[in-house]
Amino acid sequence: MYRSHTCGELRLADAEKEVVLTGWVQKSRKLGGGITFVDLRDRYGVTQLAFYRDLDADLYEEANKLGREFVLQVTGTVKERSSKNNNIATGDIEIHVAKLLILNKSDVPPFTIEDETDGGDDIRMKYRYLDLRRNPVRKNLELRHRIAFETRNYLDKQHFLEVETPVLIGSTPEGARDFVVPSRMNPGEFYALPQSPQLFKQLLMVSGFDRYFQIVKCFRDEDLRADRQPEFTQIDCEMSFVEQEDVLNIFEGLVKHLFKVVKGIDIPELPRMTYAHAMKYYGSDKPDTRFGMEFVEIKDLTAGKNFGVFDDAEYVGAICAPNAASYTRKQLDELTNFVKRPQIGAKGLIYVRYETDGTLRSSVDKFYTPVDLAKWAERCNAKPGDLILILSGETEKTQKQLCELRLEVGDRLGLRDKDTFNCLWVIDFPLLEKDEELGRFFAKHHPFTSPKKEDIEYLDSDPGVVRANAYDMVINGVEVGGGSVRIHNSDLQEKMFEVLGFTPEKAQAQFGFLMNAFKYGAPPHAGLAFGLDRLVSLFAGLDSIRDCIAFPKNNSGRDVMIDAPSQIDIEQLKELCIEVKKSE
Ligand code: ASP
Repeated sequence: MYRSHTCGELRLADAEKEVVLTGWVQKSRKLGGGITFVDLRDRYGVTQLAFYRDLDADLYEEANKLGREFVLQVTGTVKERSSKNNNIATGDIEIHVAKLLILNKSDVPPFTIEDETDGGDDIRMKYRYLDLRRNPVRKNLELRHRIAFETRNYLDKQHFLEVETPVLIGSTPEGARDFVVPSRMNPGEFYALPQSPQLFKQLLMVSGFDRYFQIVKCFRDEDLRADRQPEFTQIDCEMSFVEQEDVLNIFEGLVKHLFKVVKGIDIPELPRMTYAHAMKYYGSDKPDTRFGMEFVEIKDLTAGKNFGVFDDAEYVGAICAPNAASYTRKQLDELTNFVKRPQIGAKGLIYVRYETDGTLRSSVDKFYTPVDLAKWAERCNAKPGDLILILSGETEKTQKQLCELRLEVGDRLGLRDKDTFNCLWVIDFPLLEKDEELGRFFAKHHPFTSPKKEDIEYLDSDPGVVRANAYDMVINGVEVGGGSVRIHNSDLQEKMFEVLGFTPEKAQAQFGFLMNAFKYGAPPHAGLAFGLDRLVSLFAGLDSIRDCIAFPKNNSGRDVMIDAPSQIDIEQLKELCIEVKKSE
């Protein structure tokens, strides 16, 4: 028996017990006067080992030689501590060690393995296996496990079957670039790694599986951001004989279940917001509804006063920042610089201060009288003490900029509390999205999403207005999941491919198997997928999904620990029939 207890479980009630513990030396403190304390750590916690010269001089000397991260097995007696530590669960006791066995030595670790470490990001990524010994990192993975486990639990109770789908497949059109894998046995041909199991889960519906899910790795070769990794995990689901309403209800149930059992939070019924509403009032299809500050259009109130910037603009939109009239010149300049950054691209920011004494002062006083400003304030529902911020220009662009500004001001005003969770469904997405440069339509969700029945008639005449039976779940401004009711009729699917600019031959070559399958009694079906990484990082209050992935990639898509990707042997390449030109 290596151990009788873990390093996290002994309490005062265990006093005088003989125990055997194993773990890593987190740190040791030589107190002088012949006493040395060693903190022994494992996954479950830290227990203090005490070595007294008076009790055993040899052992005491041995303990003083222990280095950080040595792996130990100790036998000893649980004793009440004289000075207790309320910060840790085992803080009332210590172990008076009788026997010490070094199971393994350790080099000095490149950073301290404690909650607060001295290691920077890069070094911790390089030694990720050591970083994972730290509490905050390990806790995120424990949370991830809990969420995945409870997801399986909930879905199993709802009669979902977990079915594995292949990883070496052809391309799945989810709108990103594929990672590809050369096939040795089929020279010159490639597999693609799945961007999602979309087509397979739909085929499983044709097979009669009825309720499918899979917690599954997906791969997308996209530029990386804080909430994106080249490989990520989805909770992928599909159901037959359902309408949108059924899907929303089942998965609202899943999220409520997760919040309840994992965080002890009761989530109220999820509000539903149309895509059109979200864009008009938040400038985003994933609005952060933890706070108000919805957009207010004031173009009509600003017109005709010789202020060219507004007069020439297609859109003039305002947000009202509560209790921010006291913002200093410097703070307002910061906001102006924020919206002028190239990533946001506004030309300038106009403000109206609604002073607490009721006066209105703006950065455009030359053009507008207090009476004009009062009208704006009234429409914005502003109160004395508030600050109105205004952007103008082309509608869509300006709404996007206003969205960024709203989030920034929300941050600055402390309105985006990580412990508050606001969940909602965004529904009625457009079916298609026009790429102005290429002058053609793309599927907004994916090509298997069904149009709303009442909009099908516009597929030819005005495809841009057709709405989809598609939905996203948004929590605190993060899209945590999304899906759609699918097309299950091969004629409509063919029509959809046509609208998307596929020739019948190309559609047949790429998706012939799906359209064929649909000829053999495809049931009506619908589904969605949640991003597990995003869900976990939201639950944990993390800024990046990297922190809840055991071995993530860095921003250049590299695993710096194993140093991948890497070059491969010429021989290996030859075998794969891949020719590489030698770089000069
Ligand atoms: N396959 C979709 C995605 O990965 C989700 C779905 O439509 O079920 O976003």
